[in-house]
Amino acid sequence: MRIDMHVHTRHSMDCRMPVIDVLRAAKARGLDGVAVTDHGTIAGGLEAKRIAEDLGMVTIVGAEMLTDLGEVIGYFLTEEVKAHRYLEVVDEIKGQGGVACIPHPFDTLRSSSLRPTQEMLRGIDLVEVFNARCVLQRFNDDALSFARENALGLSAGSDAHTLDEVGNAGVTIGSLEDLRRGRIEVFGTSSPAHKLLAAKLRKRLRRLREGFYP
Ligand SMILES: [Zn+2]
Repeated sequence: MRIDMHVHTRHSMDCRMPVIDVLRAAKARGLDGVAVTDHGTIAGGLEAKRIAEDLGMVTIVGAEMLTDLGEVIGYFLTEEVKAHRYLEVVDEIKGQGGVACIPHPFDTLRSSSLRPTQEMLRGIDLVEVFNARCVLQRFNDDALSFARENALGLSAGSDAHTLDEVGNAGVTIGSLEDLRRGRIEVFGTSSPAHKLLAAKLRKRLRRLREGFYP
């Protein structure tokens, strides 16, 4: 099964995609399912779950929660997560029997990135080691090294906020249970818009180094 583990829908404040369109786009790109990880709510995931079966798609109900320390994704949720403090959010996810994942942990260009310390790994199952919206490949490489060093499972996703991003990244698994066991293969390419941004950023850095700007 190929699953994009990080998509948003109109239930996120910064996204307009109807849930059905996300599922259709995922199917059209040859995916078997998506994890819907809207900001702060499982409403999109629940809606997807209701309609996914008719489309022959798998849905993982999730949410991307902003905490005092950065964002955490909960997968396999059944209820809204109410806490806002990092440790309490992780506890709530685990209390529901969910899987806790740190998305884009080393993306220093996003203020919502949680830079994990060892103490913060309690209860964490997965690290998102490929996020197609990361502007620099290094951010994903660092996440993969971190996951390996700490024997954590892997996750990957497009972080799609627009339809053409759906399926840019994800995981290949035998069954959903593999996610809990960390038996995962990752696939992904950066979204074209983010590749362009990366090229611009590199150019700007080069010019800075060369003293183009006073
Ligand atoms: Zn996201």
